[in-house]
Amino acid sequence: MTISSDIARLGQWLKQAEKGVFFGGAGVSADSGIPDFRSSSGLYREKGREYYLSRACLAQEPEEFYRFFRQNMLFPNAAPNAVHKALARWEQEGRLQAVVTQNIDGLHQAAGSKRVIELHGTASKYDCTVCRASFGPEILETPELVPRCPHCGGTVRPRVTLYGEPLDGFSFEDARQVIASADLLIVGGSSLTVHPAASLLTEFRGERFVIVNRSPTPFDGAADLVIREGLGAVFSQID
Ligand code: NAD
Repeated sequence: MTISSDIARLGQWLKQAEKGVFFGGAGVSADSGIPDFRSSSGLYREKGREYYLSRACLAQEPEEFYRFFRQNMLFPNAAPNAVHKALARWEQEGRLQAVVTQNIDGLHQAAGSKRVIELHGTASKYDCTVCRASFGPEILETPELVPRCPHCGGTVRPRVTLYGEPLDGFSFEDARQVIASADLLIVGGSSLTVHPAASLLTEFRGERFVIVNRSPTPFDGAADLVIREGLGAVFSQID
């Protein structure tokens, strides 16, 4: 099988799909200029960075947490790329029922996808850790590194799942249900090493499980089709 015949096969399966689901990760936003965690130039290679995105860091060293978060996790000028746009179009055409994402950048919604399940939350919403008041990203526009709640002075945190925290149960169950009922599952731009998100893939009961990823993943052996290519290059060849 050549790459182009594999891409043609994926295109055919997408045409036939009625309840397709896309499950993605950081690689989806790579072409938007947001680095992933595990590719050679990814954030994860800077040793110990997981600590700065942990619950412990936010609690014990909020300045360090926000220094890292502001520098590495916020991309206000990033725009949806061809991958986000293709997924939004396929949803509109009735081929995909949902996008399940590990990303926190909001680019699927910006591209027009309606049903987006954000497993790890979003960098667009913030909550006071004391009085639970909610804010948009404008709460970060302060001279201080750590945003404070204007009502009670409590520390404000991003609505993202940090290392050391459980996933939001509602989103997880929502994702489990759409994956369990899907007739086509396309997975892309994820190392599939972050759990429990990746373990959701075992819920798939359909016959067409496709992985489009630049590097190998632990789920490749279970897939019906593996395309080891950039998502943008693959999706732009499917109409
Ligand atoms: P990851 O960094 O572990 O893996 C990314 C994978 O995508 C790699 O296997 C890489 O080979 C592949 N990849 C990179 N560019 C690609 C492309 N253009 N086409 C196809 N494949 C490509 O990412 P992950 O599995 O999502 O896990 C990292 C965690 O970090 C997630 O939980 C996520 O929440 C978070 N994160 C989010 C963002 C974001 O919101 N954009 C960015 C970095 C990390």
